[in-house]
Amino acid sequence: MSQSASTSHLLPVFARADVAFERGEGVWLHGTDGERYLDFTSGVAVNALGHCHPHLVEALQQQASKLWHVSNLFKSPEGERLAARLCEQSFADKVFFCNSGAEAVECALKMARHYHFSKGEPERTRVITFEGAFHGRTLGTLAATGSAKYLEGYGQPLEGFDQLPLGDLDAVKAAIGPNTAAILIEPLQGEGGVRSPELAFFRGLRELCDAHGLLLVFDEVQTGMGRTGELFAYKRIGVAPDIMALAKALGGGFPIGACLSTAEAAKGMAPGAHGSTFGGNPLAVAVANAVLDVMLQPGFFDHVKKMSLLLKQKLAGVVDRHPRVVSEIRGEGLLLGLKAVVPSPELIAALRAEKLLSVGAGDNVVRLLPPLIVNEAELDEAVGRLERACVTLAGQAAQKEAV
Ligand SMILES: *Cc1c(COP(=O)(O)O)cnc(C)c1O
Repeated sequence: MSQSASTSHLLPVFARADVAFERGEGVWLHGTDGERYLDFTSGVAVNALGHCHPHLVEALQQQASKLWHVSNLFKSPEGERLAARLCEQSFADKVFFCNSGAEAVECALKMARHYHFSKGEPERTRVITFEGAFHGRTLGTLAATGSAKYLEGYGQPLEGFDQLPLGDLDAVKAAIGPNTAAILIEPLQGEGGVRSPELAFFRGLRELCDAHGLLLVFDEVQTGMGRTGELFAYKRIGVAPDIMALAKALGGGFPIGACLSTAEAAKGMAPGAHGSTFGGNPLAVAVANAVLDVMLQPGFFDHVKKMSLLLKQKLAGVVDRHPRVVSEIRGEGLLLGLKAVVPSPELIAALRAEKLLSVGAGDNVVRLLPPLIVNEAELDEAVGRLERACVTLAGQAAQKEAV
């Protein structure tokens, strides 16, 4: 079943687990090995409505028989409708559609620079970012990410980013200069290890942006679309940005990203200032509209919050019982992290052996990202599998100590 790296024609940039899937249904994935897996990855926070949600399948099939692609040379009625709904649900007035998270952040960065350019301050190009951030893999967003491990070997990173410790408002104050254009931050770091600063830090950033005429940019590529228990995480932290990047769950598994902004922040973006061939194509916006249909049903976010609370309570028991394996629960909504005591890849492998799929993150954390439609019985099933994996790993740890 497995193919060694030397015989695969896929560029070997991913360390893929030795498992493939042929079908999905809700929170379950059916492997080509005949096993059923409980999916607490959601395709890295993408399949918010689980696999093959009937409303999304219907929307995609209907659109597929009408029109796939026409480009942005022409009007987009369904794109208009999606943009209007996203704006109605948020601080935003304008939306640019693209195809991925990195592209959404890239648009945010270009917009921030053009905003100051259009106001006659072209020297304001620098963006403040934070340690542990993840903003994507294009050359621009990689520079914003600022991680040495991802930048190594790619030459001079794009100029213009000042990376600071997360949560240090004095450092931000000191770093703001005449060339600063914006501050870019994730409301809750996902890849970085499910970490977030105090809420007061975000209020401080908003005040500093207002005082210095800077744009506040939230990267909600992972936290957006219900993941933290609100449609957008900024609603939970009580501070609205000027620009927001979305992707991952926006299309529920169909690739689409979006850069949302206030009318003021979008001032510099005239025809020709930015573009995308595929961005907001009819298939993508049809599915994203269908995702919103489901998420905007009464009670959807209450369900996410309820499942979050239950899962946190159940996980707390596991942490108490297995201090040699896991030490801490982090996160909000259904973007949860287990800080591992054993090396996190070992925990992920032990969970996979129990047919529970999870995602690694920085800081030796294992992310649990179930579809937002997960129910309590499925949480119990997952926690039972986690418990068994912990028993196995604790046994191995005790054996090692005994040797
Ligand atoms: C995943 C992610 C990105 C990059 O998204 P891609 O679709 O992989 O380009 C950017 N920012 C955050 C916070 C993410 O989690």
